[in-house]
Amino acid sequence: EPVMSFDHVSKHYRGGTVAVEDFHLDIADGEFVSIVGPSGCGKSTLLKLIMGLEPLTGGRIEYRAQARKESAMTGMVFQQPLLLPWNTVLDNVLVPSTLQGRAQRRRDEGRARELLDMLGLTDFAGSHPYELSGGMQQRVGIARALLHDPRILLMDEPFGALDAMTRDQLTLDLLEIWERDRKTVVFITHSISEAVLLSDRVVVMTPRPGRVGDVVDITLPRP
Ligand code: ADP
Ligand code: ADP
Repeated sequence: EPVMSFDHVSKHYRGGTVAVEDFHLDIADGEFVSIVGPSGCGKSTLLKLIMGLEPLTGGRIEYRAQARKESAMTGMVFQQPLLLPWNTVLDNVLVPSTLQGRAQRRRDEGRARELLDMLGLTDFAGSHPYELSGGMQQRVGIARALLHDPRILLMDEPFGALDAMTRDQLTLDLLEIWERDRKTVVFITHSISEAVLLSDRVVVMTPRPGRVGDVVDITLPRP
């Protein structure tokens, strides 16, 4: 049974732009799916629909709710890590808990430290974001997204703002994390090479002049 299903999903913006048309996709538990396509093909729109930031104009998105009781539905990693500069790395990871009060923060501190260990940031728990490289800052963003053990990790061009070397390293790190955790990941990117390296499946959105493109679904073998 899929964790998330897109059933004939469409999004037409006011003014008539057809951003997403008849999009169909089932995402299985533990799958790493990349959604790839050039600028303007509707990737950000799709993400906004998943997050509930924009209403659909057609179809449905269904989430299977047999999630473990404690876990959140989605965790989000943005193109910019959006860290609070005056907070330590540990406090940045704990932001989602802090918003739920001091008691929750205390309960989650152990988990936050575990995630920092997993991401190679143990020695930086007390540092501030400006002391970290871009790649390390993005790792803090990933730790924060994983804090409440979301059913699905959504990543929107998470390496978009990084230089090529950092990008390659973080791609490998992400693969390692995924192999340990087998979390369901939806990874949005315009980079086909990143998509192919990381994914079980690549969904290609191909825009055509004057209309929305076809959606090509490619299943990749994993070594
Ligand atoms: P991508 O993320 O792949 O670059 P988007 O989802 O941002 O694509 O955009 C898909 C199409 O929808 C584009 O033609 C874009 O101009 C249009 N679009 C995006 N957001 C809006 C909006 N809020 N209002 C109107 N048109 C939009
Ligand atoms: P990105 O693809 O980098 O995530 P955006 O989603 O912000 O960038 O924008 C993608 C495209 O959608 C751009 O061409 C932008 O001009 C267009 N767009 C974004 N918001 C609107 C809007 N409110 N109305 C019309 N076009 C929009």
